[in-house]
Amino acid sequence: MLDLEYAAPAPKVIAGAKHDWELVIGLEVHAQVATKAKLFSGASTLFGAEPNSNVAFVDAGMPGMLPVINEACVAQAVRTGLGLKAQINLMSAFDRKNYFYPDLPQGYQISQLYHPIVGEGEVLVELGDGTARLVRIERIHLEQDAGKSIHDMDPTMSFVDLNRTGVALMEIVSRPDIRGPEEAAAYVAKLRQIMRYLGTCDGNMQNGNLRADVNVSICRPGDYEKYQATQDFSHLGTRCEIKNMNSMRFIQMAIEVEARRQIAIIEDGGSVTQETRLYGPDKNETRSMRSKEEAHDYRYFPDPDLLPLEIEQAWVDDIAASLPELPDAKKARFVADFGLSDYDASVLTADVANAAYFEDVAKGGDGKLAANWVINELFGRLKKDGDKGITDSPISATRLAQIVALIKAETISGKIAKDVFDMAYTQDRNPDEIVETEGMKQVTDTGAIEAAVDEIIAANPAQVEKAKQNPKLAGWFVGQVMKSTGGKANPAAVNALVAQKLGL
Ligand code: ADP
Ligand code: MG
Repeated sequence: MLDLEYAAPAPKVIAGAKHDWELVIGLEVHAQVATKAKLFSGASTLFGAEPNSNVAFVDAGMPGMLPVINEACVAQAVRTGLGLKAQINLMSAFDRKNYFYPDLPQGYQISQLYHPIVGEGEVLVELGDGTARLVRIERIHLEQDAGKSIHDMDPTMSFVDLNRTGVALMEIVSRPDIRGPEEAAAYVAKLRQIMRYLGTCDGNMQNGNLRADVNVSICRPGDYEKYQATQDFSHLGTRCEIKNMNSMRFIQMAIEVEARRQIAIIEDGGSVTQETRLYGPDKNETRSMRSKEEAHDYRYFPDPDLLPLEIEQAWVDDIAASLPELPDAKKARFVADFGLSDYDASVLTADVANAAYFEDVAKGGDGKLAANWVINELFGRLKKDGDKGITDSPISATRLAQIVALIKAETISGKIAKDVFDMAYTQDRNPDEIVETEGMKQVTDTGAIEAAVDEIIAANPAQVEKAKQNPKLAGWFVGQVMKSTGGKANPAAVNALVAQKLGL
């Protein structure tokens, strides 16, 4: 386990109320498992297929059809659990959660209430200001997703698309350890980052592949500490659950507005009712969807069609052995091995493909220089160039590494390197070849530089007199020499020679 030092941030305090209030937030994140087939059928999980084309008889709830567990989904849940440093339960079981949904024809959802596959874990959530919080994971269970009802295609009818019905979800339940809107978004972002590293969920929020139910309550300063000390929830306020959030920005806005609503109720002498609410970004408000059901309303019971799920420790160990280096470890290594700042290391490890690209560029011999070129030049350029991702970069890591190596060897200056970069980027050329063919090598030969300096001094006697009075004017000579050498003269050598010749 990583031993990262971190300073916990102060809880978010809502201003403008009669009293001080703090926020308490717990998230239930639904992450679509990245597999080819659904949880209990062989139907494809491909997004964007023709409606109702990826539906097996099991998904359609046809009589007599039996679910068969997909091993790949179980492996992905285990992999996710290991990535979140969580307890893996070798024995888990599936339960039926009964309710009517038009897009879940079985009439119940198969989930894991009593014996989830993954137990307690933790996630380190870092915030922009350098503070961090450890958010505890309570459990992760596997369950089926529902399909999609479409109400806006016809004025009189609703349609249903069962392509998503039965696709595997991991429900990742956090403890109420999150203390503010930014933290909630950062937590979801961190989960997404880890799952993308692991390859267990693509994290695409727009497609609904990652969505969060956000539980919000408020408490008075000091109450949360009492809860932490005792784990006794009675120290916390009544929570409301905001369903199905699939945008980081809306998660934050919803928490803020929901907290204000609860504060207004309590300060008015009322009390918060536990219920499920929906957030509407148009009016920036939450509204009641249904009062919170009790577990018994769902008449949960063990699914008689499925045997308890038993997995072997050796299988778990195999999965553990195949885990990639995860974000926290990679970031710590980038800081230690390449001397990067915490911030640069975060930027580069945000995405695993970016991190791999950077490591290849760092083979140019200078990690800090490589980071600078990847973050400032390349990312900046890709963004301007139609917001391209690293995989569409017209310049390969090997070529950018060449540029870094050329700068490092002082074959080209940083300034010339920008021209080389531009040519390599736009003309699909090799930097070594560009520098050679275009004669861009830096002139470090002092004889040649000296000649250029002498020439400028001889041609500008008036300027020479002025510079002798005012040494700041030496910069003008440096500029002229750089110009006359096409920017190729070694700037340090030019500076030294100009100062020397002017007798400064
Ligand atoms: P339920 O069984 O009703 O879904 P859980 O105990 O499983 O309730 O909790 C659901 C989520 O609500 C968890 O993510 C948990 O962290 C969060 N939660 C529990 N109590 C609070 C609270 N007082 N304020 C905010 N979130 C809470
Ligand atoms: Mg729950």
